[in-house]
Amino acid sequence: MPTITSMTAWRSRAACAGQDTELWFPDYPIGAPAMKICGRCSVRAECLYECLADEVPSRRYGIRGGLTTGERQALPELPERPADAIAVLRELLHTTTEDQTPAERTGPTMTTDTELVAQAKTADLPVGQLLKWGDEHPDKDVQDQAARARIALHGLRQRHAADQELTAITTEAAQLEKRLAELRAREAELAPAKPKRKAPARDYDTPTVRAWADEQGVECPRVGQIPKRVLDAWRASLPQAGGVQ
Ligand code: SF4
Repeated sequence: MPTITSMTAWRSRAACAGQDTELWFPDYPIGAPAMKICGRCSVRAECLYECLADEVPSRRYGIRGGLTTGERQALPELPERPADAIAVLRELLHTTTEDQTPAERTGPTMTTDTELVAQAKTADLPVGQLLKWGDEHPDKDVQDQAARARIALHGLRQRHAADQELTAITTEAAQLEKRLAELRAREAELAPAKPKRKAPARDYDTPTVRAWADEQGVECPRVGQIPKRVLDAWRASLPQAGGVQ
């Protein structure tokens, strides 16, 4: 079984190591620093493959392997075998790199160790730079810790994106429900009033019919509605119906 280090060994060659990871996720336009750094990264294909294997299509977020969410969406179907898939991605990305200008391929200068130390003395080390420090540390435990931290950060970002999407959906659903209630109320106001149906007038008095049924020995429940057969018999007994009282 591969160890966490062997699975993520390519990360030690990531051109973005040590950079501010926010560059890859906020609302930076295409062509922003992240795209340039990815453009000269030697492990774009591995990075992109890992991203495609992990991310949920409906929750794509940020730049990976130099591709935006839309560009990742448009990628062709890849072979199942990871090595084959990475080879295909490498070929695809090679084409993209050739289209870039030399300046875009070069990208900005990476932060030097001296600058790192200076930053560490004056402020908290940015997460990206801390991870780079971990990646390059001679102690293998520290390297593993950095690899695990990257995975945890990736999971955290996905959860953050999912929470944001959920909040947006919940807010929109509440607004739609409110609007629907308003429309229903207006619909009720505008709809013509339905004429109330009048209950047909009774031609009998319940105690009278029960008393008649008792006298005649006709079975009739003591409570509730009087059955139609009893009413029919009672009506038939009335003088106007030709019956005998
Ligand atoms: S492809 Fe880009 S995001 Fe991926 S490791 Fe390289 S520089 Fe970082």
